[in-house]
Amino acid sequence: MTDVHKRYGDTRAVDGVSLTVRRGEFLGLLGPNGAGKTTLVEIMEGLRQADAGTVGVLGTSPWPRNLALLPRIGLQTQASAFFVRLTAREHLRTVAALYGAARDAAERTLAMVGLTEQGDTQVEGLSGGQRQRLAIASALVHGPELIFLDEPTAALDPQARRDLWQVLRDLKGEGRTIVYTTHHLDEAETLCDRVAIIVNGRITALDTPARLVAAGSGNTRLLVPADRLTEARARELPGVLDVQVDGDVVVLETTEAGPLLSAVEAVAGLQGVRTRTASLEDVYLQLTATGDR
Ligand code: ADP
Repeated sequence: MTDVHKRYGDTRAVDGVSLTVRRGEFLGLLGPNGAGKTTLVEIMEGLRQADAGTVGVLGTSPWPRNLALLPRIGLQTQASAFFVRLTAREHLRTVAALYGAARDAAERTLAMVGLTEQGDTQVEGLSGGQRQRLAIASALVHGPELIFLDEPTAALDPQARRDLWQVLRDLKGEGRTIVYTTHHLDEAETLCDRVAIIVNGRITALDTPARLVAAGSGNTRLLVPADRLTEARARELPGVLDVQVDGDVVVLETTEAGPLLSAVEAVAGLQGVRTRTASLEDVYLQLTATGDR
């Protein structure tokens, strides 16, 4: 897409976005609530019309609603619709049939998202996390080339989240393209080939997680139990750039962890001291700090 704009009244939800997603790429869209992620994805999906700019999806235009694209793309949204009176299996078979997918596709996809045991449970009897997995299954059942997922891991417990990561990695391994939004930065760092950080309708950063982290401050943080080191004392240690108290730990920021570790050892001992190198979350927080609406 090139120079895409979308306004709602005075709100510039998408404010001049140019973005190319490569085939087979796993792209993460990150940004605070209201940044414009959903609007952007809906424009790619053909659910919303851009006010200006050009959009191409799989070599064609998604707007006006392009029926030829539907079998080739898979959508999971926050408001995914279900046939609530059907069982999970019946629901998925129905979706599969709508797309003309192979007969065994529903069963395979149920297994893929770990819902085989819930196959005979009515949709309205599924837990929130199970429904979410069914919504994801509904986006995948017809084997689309391009998959859009909107916070797919939001309602999942830690194990289900890890399981879904594997599903997503497998899909990528099959050469499918995945565009997804998430608020889990650790997850984006692990899964995505590239992430776009969106603030106020614009892309403020777009690169591989590793390059974004490397371009960030690169500082290391030492986390020291607060009962062993006061904030004032921490500020006097050599090489300390910044000190923050975060609950029961004092966080010391430095460019050179070695000398500071020795100094901390001398005044507080090293028991319970942890180090944390820069992560995508640090970069994200820097870039979005002033961007919240
Ligand atoms: P995100 O997905 O990043 O949270 P959205 O794309 O949902 O962001 O929203 C971007 C901005 O556009 C927000 O300020 C939101 O309030 C506004 N907005 C989104 N959808 C509509 C709509 N249908 N009508 C009016 N304003 C909207």
